[in-house]
Amino acid sequence: CGIVGYVGAPDDERALGVVVDGLARLEYRGYDSAGIALVTADGLETRKKAGKLANLRALLEASPMTAAATGIGHTRWATHGGPTDGNAHPHVAGEGGHEVAVIHNGIVENFAVLRAELEAAGAELVSETDTEVAAHVLAARLREVLAEGLGGGAALAEAMRRTCRRLEGAFTLLAVRAAEPGVVVGARRSSPLVVGLGDGETFLGSDVAAFISRTRSALALGQDEVVTITADGASITTFDGEPVEGSPFHVDWDV
Ligand code: GLU
Repeated sequence: CGIVGYVGAPDDERALGVVVDGLARLEYRGYDSAGIALVTADGLETRKKAGKLANLRALLEASPMTAAATGIGHTRWATHGGPTDGNAHPHVAGEGGHEVAVIHNGIVENFAVLRAELEAAGAELVSETDTEVAAHVLAARLREVLAEGLGGGAALAEAMRRTCRRLEGAFTLLAVRAAEPGVVVGARRSSPLVVGLGDGETFLGSDVAAFISRTRSALALGQDEVVTITADGASITTFDGEPVEGSPFHVDWDV
């Protein structure tokens, strides 16, 4: 339902506050659960909770997260699997270097086929969501990309492109990975995603309300595109890897 992504400067570890604030600004859309993933120096950390953002905030008080510069946050409107803590996003899949945390808006229509394939290959899924299936496909593609030697800071984006080519339906996806700490990768098909370009910080949002308090400089993504954000900006390609410019716009209305 609501999606926020954030990358700030490595020494400026404000991701948690920025992401929670972004989620609060997306509350008007309605939701049944909320969750966050941060890329910390010790790896991925997630917190998620059914119910209002207040429930997630209480969990964060009881179980504080490590400060980080990179994070993603989601408010869920359940379509596949009831509104439980376990079905809330982010969903984590993979291990070690190919572990990913994923949030998702929309529906993966072919999730049943993909889930059967993943389970046949030994994956253990712990939720009832279509989203967790996408997370496992992404982790598997990442393993493949890394095995091909396409490492560097671009492995997650390439794995996301391969994942999106397998998914049917309308979706926005965001993913983070411990081994690419200053990066959030997003993708969209028939579901909204916008980039916010700040001064030394970059945002992703399911709508501009996610970041309008921090920047009004934005970049629209087209259909079937993957975006990589870092603290310095954004780079966009098609699902096939062709570079795309993105359409800059200025948000001059109040939200
Ligand atoms: N289909 C996903 C789920 O049920 C995402 C729903 C949403 O857009 O929030 O978890």
